[in-house]
Amino acid sequence: MSVTVQDVLERAAQILEHSGWCQQYSHRSSGESCLYGAILDAAPGSAMDAVYEVRERIGVMNTVGLFDWNDAPGRTLSEVLAVLRIPGHCECEMDGDQRRYCASCKAREEAE
Ligand SMILES: [Zn+2]
Repeated sequence: MSVTVQDVLERAAQILEHSGWCQQYSHRSSGESCLYGAILDAAPGSAMDAVYEVRERIGVMNTVGLFDWNDAPGRTLSEVLAVLRIPGHCECEMDGDQRRYCASCKAREEAE
């Protein structure tokens, strides 16, 4: 069974809504997770493609940038959920560790 990157991000949004969101830690013992931790929990195989997609959406170069974005003072859960739920941006499918690129990501890869 394959899922799309957007499926993984929607699942991450549901994890944050259900278990709570935090800063500074990827997971807390009380159940909350940060943006990155929720994506890891949501991905059936490798989370790299979903992490890469979110990095593109928030415009950071690396995963440390993603942590900094999550941990920024004043950051809110609704901003995090909004990034996860941008619709129609990416339809890549993830089949285990294999990513099948959607048309828009394929065009972006070829342009680089
Ligand atoms: Zn895509």
